[in-house]
This record gives sequence, C-alpha cells and structure tokens, in this order.
Amino acid sequence: MKEKIGITTTVPVEVLLAAGKTPVDLNNIFVTSGKAKEIIERAELDGFPRNICAWIKGLYSTAVVYGIDRIIGVTEGDCSNTKSLLEVWQSKGISTVDFGFPGKRTREAVKSELDSFMEKFSVILEEVESVRKSLSSIRSKLSELDRLTWEENKVSGFENHLWQVSSSDFNGDPESFSKELDEFLEEAKCREPYPKNEIRLGYIGVPPIIDDIYSLAESNGARVVYNEVQREFTMAKSEYPDIYEMYLDFNYPYDLDTRLGEIEKQIEERKLDGIIHYTQSFCHRGIEDIVIKSRLKLPVLTIEGDLPGMADARTKLRLESFLDMMMDLKE
Ligand code: SF4
Repeated sequence: MKEKIGITTTVPVEVLLAAGKTPVDLNNIFVTSGKAKEIIERAELDGFPRNICAWIKGLYSTAVVYGIDRIIGVTEGDCSNTKSLLEVWQSKGISTVDFGFPGKRTREAVKSELDSFMEKFSVILEEVESVRKSLSSIRSKLSELDRLTWEENKVSGFENHLWQVSSSDFNGDPESFSKELDEFLEEAKCREPYPKNEIRLGYIGVPPIIDDIYSLAESNGARVVYNEVQREFTMAKSEYPDIYEMYLDFNYPYDLDTRLGEIEKQIEERKLDGIIHYTQSFCHRGIEDIVIKSRLKLPVLTIEGDLPGMADARTKLRLESFLDMMMDLKE
C-alpha cells in the first residue's frame, strides 16, 4: 500500500505523486469528518490554547486520529502557526518534511525550493514533469468548472468551492477525481442557468470553516461566482511551460498587493457586485482586512468564523442585511 503523506495546504503535489505517495489534505479530512468539533476538543485536551485558530487544532488532531505518520510542513508562505504545530507533531512521533514558498518571488528561488523538495523524495525533474503533464487535463477541467460557474451560471458557489479546494490532493486519487469531475461537468452543462438578476459575489480569504455560507447567500438571492484562494489551489489560471513557472504563479503564499491585483481583474471579468472577505478567528491574516477594504472599490462584508458548523445568528443577520443592501443598490 502507498504511504499516505499529510499536507496542511497546497504543496507541489506532483513531487509526492512522482514518489509514489498518496497526498492527504488534513484540512479536507477534518471538515468532512462529521466530527470536527470533537477533533478540536481533543486538541484542547492535549493542551492547545483556546485562542488558537480552529483549523490548527483540527489539523493537529486529524493527523493523530487518522494515524498519519509523515506530514509536509509548509514553514514559509502559509501560516505563522505551522512551525509550532510541527514541533508538537514531532513530539508525538510524527515525522515532518519541511517545504517553504520562498520569501523572494523569483523563478530562481522557487526552483531552488522545488529542487530541494524533489531531493527529499528522491525524484528527478523528468518524473515530476511527467506527473504534472498527466494532471494538466484535470486542471483544465477545473478551469472549465470555474467558467461554468461565472460565465454560464450553471454551478453553485459551494460546488465551485468544493471541487477547487479538493485539488490540493485530488482526494488522494487523481484518476478517480478526474472521472467524478467528468460526470459532474457533464451533468452541470445540461442545467438551467441561475437567474440573471442574482447578486454576484466574490469570496476571498482562507476557505470557510462555516458549512452554510454559500447556501445562505443563495437563499438570499446571491451566488458566489469567484472563490479566490480555492481557484489559486487549482493552478489552472494558465498553461505553464514547467513546474517552476506553475508554482511561481501561485498567489496565495505571497504579498497581498499581487493577490489584490488578481482579485480586481476577476471583479471586472466576472462582473461582481460585492465581496465576502472571510477571516478565521485568531488568524493573523485577519489584519489584511484593513488593506482589502481600503483598496477594493465595491462593497465588502467581512465574516469571521470560529468553530466548524453552521453560521451563528449574528453572521446570518449580517449577511442578510448586506445582501439586502446590495439588492437595493442593484435595483
Ligand atoms: S486560518 Fe490562519 S491561523 Fe488558521 S491555519 Fe489558516 S493561516 Fe493559519
């Protein structure tokens, strides 16, 4: 049986697949486990402080509960808590492999990080490129799914989120993922489009821990037609000559200014009416809200999530009022 390697965010999955490993995104297991709250409680019982982001606690316990022996720790460009999390895992006997998106966003720096990552898994560039090419048709299909969301209006915001966010590990099995995606696309293409007068939203920031954020928007006459970070995970924004250029074009680990440039482009292209900026309680990325609100020229609602599950009454009310206001503006 192939060794399962835990990942905590998007990493060069082509390297793991070339090495014959099965990537497992711990975030996806955690939120779809059906016992996310128990998983968090377990982390707190093991000593995690209350004021640490629920994703971190979820990642920690998921690895322990699901018996993951080795994890890729993204030490640069993802989360400021990762280094400490890796130390806790190591103390529990879980081995970790470091990977970092370089501080300097240059081809040279990305190449150096990727080459060293390949060395750690004893694979060479040709093997990795061959996997990259085999995954390119899946990435193109994800781009088509995204187009069906914003251009043909046949895919819901949640479906768009789920498929794109799952491209971090292709659910551990790219072949099955590809087949299921084919079936989904086939079915989605035959749907009636969503109504033309709906409010078109962009969702930016880390993926939500709240289950019903997309359905709440839809039940109030809106739909998310752009999921920023999830789309970045697909690496499907363009066709790339090699793996270095592909990961160089990945905006999430780098500066906010470049991210906002891409967001502005998508606001224009997808004709967005408003933005939901999702922040996670106790996450350093919440500070970015200040710059986001001062730069974007359309209404932005900041929603903060804490624990997994349904949105609380206050969040529901704020979202409903925001969408009411948007509807008035649109009319
Ligand atoms: S939400 Fe923020 S603090 Fe939590 S894991 Fe993600 S980056 Fe880290």
